[in-house]
Amino acid sequence: MAILVFVETSEGHIKKSSLEAISYGAQIGVKLNTTIVAVLIGSSPSEDLTSLGKYGATKVIHVNNNNLQIANIQAYASALQQVTEKEQADIIVLPKSSLTDPVAARLGIKLKAAVVSNVTEVPDTTNGFKVKRAIYTGKAFAEVEIKSTKKILVIKKNAASIKEDGGMASVETFSANVSDHDLQVVQKEVNKATGQVLLPEAEIVVSGGRGLKGPENWGIIEDLAKTLGAATGCSKPVSDMDWRPHHEHVGQTGVKVSPNLYIAVGISGAIQHLAGVNSSKVIVVINKDAEAPFFKAADYGIVGDAFEILPKLNEAFKKALN
Ligand SMILES: Cc1cc2nc3c(=O)[nH]c(=O)nc-3n(C[C@H](O)[C@H](O)[C@H](O)COP(=O)(O)OP(=O)(O)OC[C@H]3O[C@@H](n4cnc5c(N)ncnc54)[C@H](O)[C@@H]3O)c2cc1C
Repeated sequence: MAILVFVETSEGHIKKSSLEAISYGAQIGVKLNTTIVAVLIGSSPSEDLTSLGKYGATKVIHVNNNNLQIANIQAYASALQQVTEKEQADIIVLPKSSLTDPVAARLGIKLKAAVVSNVTEVPDTTNGFKVKRAIYTGKAFAEVEIKSTKKILVIKKNAASIKEDGGMASVETFSANVSDHDLQVVQKEVNKATGQVLLPEAEIVVSGGRGLKGPENWGIIEDLAKTLGAATGCSKPVSDMDWRPHHEHVGQTGVKVSPNLYIAVGISGAIQHLAGVNSSKVIVVINKDAEAPFFKAADYGIVGDAFEILPKLNEAFKKALN
């Protein structure tokens, strides 16, 4: 019985969350004394495929159908079902994303498997199969027991750390049997909102709130974002007032982000804003009010005026990164 891990790509690049999922799967593999098979659908450089061994995959199955080059929920679920059956896998691990949640739901029906999303820890297999998952936008955790033979685990971003202690994986190509029924909805074109780093995928986000006073002051946010190769975000009132476009609005009613680093500038830290950022690995808060609630959720805080701090921070980063 192998453990199958779905490897999601973005524009041909393997997503960091997929590497987390492989490392996560490898930890279950050690517990259950079994191997990890990674499955990548679509095109990817062959060296990227073999390198998945570093993260714990023993074998990579490359589903290389021409009609699966662009992500397709129904067809991906069918392809994963076929690979699961071929490999006789009982545990399927997926990194959480807007693609994998609906894929996991469909795969669950096809395989008669239990699906648990937002998983944050490696399962406890001492007495049954219990996993911990984040609920209420990360404010609480639930422990759930899975009783079905086939189990699908969708891993929360940043919940598992990437381990690079493996070797090279063998690569096997597989042509999935995809029916017309699977391809009834086909994505033809993607138009990105802008040319910069996309917010939901960003590794670093620099985000501004009402403390920035007006749209004319966003240059200091953009300058820092440019230096760090980061995406820019904002609080809801900022986008409501049209200081920034709506696709930058972060929070419960906006975009949910899971970067390695979230820098919040002049944002108070209301619960609705925190709901969108609490999967971030490291949170840095810059606020002139030492009592701002955001500091309670911060890993690092700077109390002071954003208009003085940000240009200095930007210069320091520029020097450090050159
Ligand atoms: C149903 C509902 C859904 C919501 N959804 C969201 C959501 O998805 N996302 C979201 O963001 N909000 C959301 N909100 C709004 C949320 O409750 C807050 O009102 C909002 O997040 C506050 O935005 P802010 O922090 O930019 O502004 P403020 O609360 O006004 O905070 C501004 C901060 O800037 C600091 N500041 C001022 N000047 C400076 C300076 N010179 N240097 C440094 N710091 C400075 C202040 O100390 C203050 O902490 C929602 C509200 C409701 C009711």
